[in-house]
Amino acid sequence: MWRKFSAGEWLKLPGSKRFHPIGKQNKVRIDGYGDGRFGASRDQGKRQHEGIDLVVTPGESILSPIMGKIVRYAYPYPDDPRYSGVHIQNDEYLVKMFYLSPVLAKPGQQVMQGQAIGTAQKISTKYGSGMIDYVHF
Ligand SMILES: [Zn+2]
Repeated sequence: MWRKFSAGEWLKLPGSKRFHPIGKQNKVRIDGYGDGRFGASRDQGKRQHEGIDLVVTPGESILSPIMGKIVRYAYPYPDDPRYSGVHIQNDEYLVKMFYLSPVLAKPGQQVMQGQAIGTAQKISTKYGSGMIDYVHF
C-alpha cells in the first residue's frame, strides 16, 4: 500500500538512487518568504514544511522523480488557478508536486522516472521578486 512520500526520506537516499526532478544539482530555496528545507518551521512553528522547495528557472522541464501514475492535478490555491501541480502515485509513494504546468501528463497516465511531466511556473509573480522561483515536492 502506498503512503505519503516523505521528502526527508528522499534526502537520505544515496545520490545514485535519488532521482532529481530538476535534472541538476540540488539547490533548495531559502529567501525572505521562507525556508524550503524539509522540516523547516511554518506558521510560527505550528507546523513543519513537509516537502522540499527546489530552485528552478521558470519554463524549465520538471521530471517525474518516480515511476508511477498521474492520479490528479493539484491546485495549491483554490482561488488562483494560475498555479498547479500533479499528484503521482505508485505502490510505495504518493508524491505531490506544486508550481508546475503539466505537459503531456494527464490524470490516469503512467509516467517513467525521469519523464518530463511539466514546466516550472513563476511563483514569484504571486509573491514578489524577492521570492526565488521553485518547485515544491
Ligand atoms: Zn514547499
